[in-house]
Amino acid sequence: MKLYSTLDRGVVDIIPNKEGEVSIYSCGPTVYFRMHIGNIRAYVNWDILHRALVYLGYDVKRIMNMTDVGHMTSKDDFGDDFGEDKVDKQAQKEGIQPLDIANKYIETVLEDFRNLNILAPNGSEITSEIIYMDVNKYGWTRATEYIEEMIEMIKKMEKNGYTYETKQALYFDVSKLKDYTIFTGQDLSEKEVGVREEVGVDSDKRNPADFVLWMKRVGKYKEHIMNWESPWGNGFPGWHIECSTMSTAIFGEYFDIHTGGVDHIPVHHTNERAQNIGAYGHPSVKYWIHNEWLVNKEDLKISKSRGGADTLPEIVQLGFNPMDLRYLFMSINYRTRISFSKEALEGARNARLALIRRLKELGKEEGNVIEKYKEDFKKELENNLNISGVLALVNDLLKSDYPKEDILATVYDIDRVLGLDLESENNKEDESTDEIKDLLEIRQEARKKKDFKESDRLRDLIYEKGYRVLDTSTGQEVKKIDE
Ligand code: AMP
Ligand code: ZN
Repeated sequence: MKLYSTLDRGVVDIIPNKEGEVSIYSCGPTVYFRMHIGNIRAYVNWDILHRALVYLGYDVKRIMNMTDVGHMTSKDDFGDDFGEDKVDKQAQKEGIQPLDIANKYIETVLEDFRNLNILAPNGSEITSEIIYMDVNKYGWTRATEYIEEMIEMIKKMEKNGYTYETKQALYFDVSKLKDYTIFTGQDLSEKEVGVREEVGVDSDKRNPADFVLWMKRVGKYKEHIMNWESPWGNGFPGWHIECSTMSTAIFGEYFDIHTGGVDHIPVHHTNERAQNIGAYGHPSVKYWIHNEWLVNKEDLKISKSRGGADTLPEIVQLGFNPMDLRYLFMSINYRTRISFSKEALEGARNARLALIRRLKELGKEEGNVIEKYKEDFKKELENNLNISGVLALVNDLLKSDYPKEDILATVYDIDRVLGLDLESENNKEDESTDEIKDLLEIRQEARKKKDFKESDRLRDLIYEKGYRVLDTSTGQEVKKIDE
């Protein structure tokens, strides 16, 4: 398998530490808001990677964190130390305990993952029975459950001379690590001391790039709800230490792949790498793999504060199926930026529906997977997850002269990686005629424009033609009226 390794600055052969087994740590959500479609892009990408590795025969050991403490709001690329703790702040805003905030939003993560066919980190399907209390069983790690391990890891860094303490925090001293900026090649001396707000907050901080390992419950954080005892006083961990600790607590000092968005390269992953070296004397991650951004029409990264229809329920509200979003994100390589627009999503929907229509023409008979296509499919996956190649392959397959049932079996097999639920889509009873479908589409447009008068008229018209329309959370559903 070849993937783009950020540190190697190129596509490389992935050679796992243990033959046949791949360990992957994926930076997961900070659970204080419903994730937006930018986050979803990242998770769809890594779901495809996970499924591809399983398909290729690897034993995948994967974990993902749920950040439920210590992730601070930031004003710039560096400043995530002296903002406010996102979870703690939201708890104060909603007037409930931080743990309840985390649990509430973990539920929404599970719901969105389930609707998008994203597997749990341990490879299980997410059913509605899985709730926040079970997340450990399914391969998620919650930061608040690893505080002791974090303290132990920080102690190692301290012993190895990588830290210093001020009245407010314990810091990682980046000047102790020669290749600290290996990811970006940035010259740290260019950053003026004093330009950042937090230097003003802690005047004993030596270098703007030094980052917090342990924040003390003093000054600005006197009222911080979540806090634990530590050798550096009562307080809470920094954000970066969480991922370094959870990954190595589970995999040990070495593991294969670490995933995250490109936004994590200059700070979060730079700091994770520094901490691993600080504690263990060597890096822990063999390959850092990053997904490009989902951007809006103005080419700005989709983020929480931008507003607009950017959560899955909002997308569904617009009349799309979650699988349309999955199709859009899945169909573009993880290293390519995606510019998000309704038009792009409509394009994905059309492509997905056309695919399903074609499958319906092939019938429902069971057949055999065509080996030639299976081999070609594997080659595309091994080639840095070349999904556009996969889609071309599927097109070619659908046009081929193989027996219909074998084509179908092969598409279903490929869908083990794509995760579009094609088999159940094909088996869904489809009662409506083309005319009804057209009317539904027009009605959908009317609803999008909030033209409810027109939408009601069309509903009645469809009713006259013998079908009842139901507006559900996943869009319009149509049922034949029994005579
Ligand atoms: P956060 O909860 O902010 O830590 O983000 C969770 C994951 O989503 C991280 O791996 C981010 O890199 C990723 N992410 C956030 N925004 C975007 C975006 N607009 N496009 C792609 N990935 C994103
Ligand atoms: Zn992380």
